Amino acid sequence: MISKDEDQACLEIGHEASKKEEWIDYAQYCFLREKGLRKKAFSVLDRFISKAKGWPFEAKKEFVEWLCKKMDLLPQSHWGLFPTPLRKDLFLEVFEEWCNREPNDAEVFSLRAQYTRAPDYYKKAIAIDPWNQRARATFAHACIQDIWYSTHHLPDHFIGNEQDILQTVKQAREHISYLKGELKNSVEKELFGEEQLLEDWMTFKKGGTEDFVSWCQAKGGDYHWVKAFNRISMPIPRIFHPFLEEGPFETCLICGCGLLQPGVHYMIEKAFRGTEVIFEYAICLSCSQNLHKELSAESLHQLRRHFEEHVDWEERDRRLLKTSRGTCEPWLQHCVITGTPRDQAHAYHLIGHCAGDKLVLKFHPFMICEAAMVQMGRLISKKTRDALDNFTGQYLGMPPEFKEVFNDAPMLLV
Ligand SMILES: [Zn+2]
Repeated sequence: MISKDEDQACLEIGHEASKKEEWIDYAQYCFLREKGLRKKAFSVLDRFISKAKGWPFEAKKEFVEWLCKKMDLLPQSHWGLFPTPLRKDLFLEVFEEWCNREPNDAEVFSLRAQYTRAPDYYKKAIAIDPWNQRARATFAHACIQDIWYSTHHLPDHFIGNEQDILQTVKQAREHISYLKGELKNSVEKELFGEEQLLEDWMTFKKGGTEDFVSWCQAKGGDYHWVKAFNRISMPIPRIFHPFLEEGPFETCLICGCGLLQPGVHYMIEKAFRGTEVIFEYAICLSCSQNLHKELSAESLHQLRRHFEEHVDWEERDRRLLKTSRGTCEPWLQHCVITGTPRDQAHAYHLIGHCAGDKLVLKFHPFMICEAAMVQMGRLISKKTRDALDNFTGQYLGMPPEFKEVFNDAPMLLV
C-alpha cells in the first residue's frame, strides 16, 4: 500500500479531479489507489490516458498543468498520483508539444525537466531565463546533495576529492545568487550546514591529528558529522541479520574479512520466497567491485539505465527519510521498480548497504520483486549471466529448483 500521506493526497486530488467531467477516470484511479486496488486502478488509468490522448492540445495542457501545480504543493506524496504510465504515455508527449508551442517560457521547460525526469531541460530553462527559480533551486539542491554525499560517511572517510567539492560549493552559491525570498533563505541554510562539515574536515586534515571525532570534541562538541551520519543510518535491523544466527553478518562471503569494524562498507542481499530465505550473504565493497569486473560493461549500463528510468532515488530518499523514524520498514514495503507491495510479491530480494554495525539509508535499502527481477534478467548478456551463475553456484549453492527465478536476478550489481 502507499503511505498514509500519499493515501490522503490521492483522496484530495481525486476529489478535485472529480469536479471536471473529463477527469472522472483520473479521479476514479486516485480513489482506487487509495483503497489499495492497484490492478483496477491501473486499468481505469489506461482508459483515462487513451481518452486524454485524443483531446485537443489545450485540454491536455490544462490537465498536465493542473496536476503539476498540485504535485508542487505535495512534494513528498505524489508517488500514487503520478504513476509511470501517466508520465510516459501522456506527460512526455504533452510537454514535447508544449515546449514547441511556447519556446520562450522557461517555466514550461523547468516543469518538463522535473515531471518527465529529464534534467537537461533545466539547462534550457536557465538559458531562456537565468532567474527561473525552479531550475536554479534544483541545481543548487543537486550541488548540496553532492557535497553531502562526499561527507556522509564521515568520520570514517571522505568520498572524492576535497578540491572538486569546493568547486561544487562555488556552483551552489552561484545558483543560490539567483534565488529570491524564502526559497533563497532555506536553500542557503541547507548549504551552510553541509559546508560547515566540509570545512571542519579540511581543517582537521591539515592539522595532522589522528582522529576526527576527538578533534570535533576538542573544538567544542559541535558534532556536525554525528548529525550527518546519524540522520542516514541505523543499527542493522533483524531482517538483515543471517536467518539462523544471532546478530548481524560478521564476515565477507568471498574474502572472509571482518565487517563490523567502523568504516567497513559492505552489501547484504537476502532472497525470499514467501517467508522462506532462499539465500543470503554479505560481501565487502572490494569483493563486490572485483565481481563487477567480470560482468559485461554493456549489461551494467543497461541495468543502471533501467534503474534510472524507474526510480527517482533522491526523491525516494527524501520521502523515506521523512517517514522512516528509526525503522527501515518503509524502505522495504514496495518493489523499487514496479511498486508492488512486498506482501503481494511471491518472491523478492532485499538489498542493504551497511557500514560497520550500521545500515546506511542512502539509495538502499530496497526491495525488488520477482517480476522486476525477470525484467532485469532480460537486459543482461551471456557473459554477465555466466559470471552470475558462477557466483551463485560457487558461493551460494543454490538449489536447482530455484535457479531459474533467481538467476534472472543480477542483484549483486546494484
Ligand atoms: Zn570481501
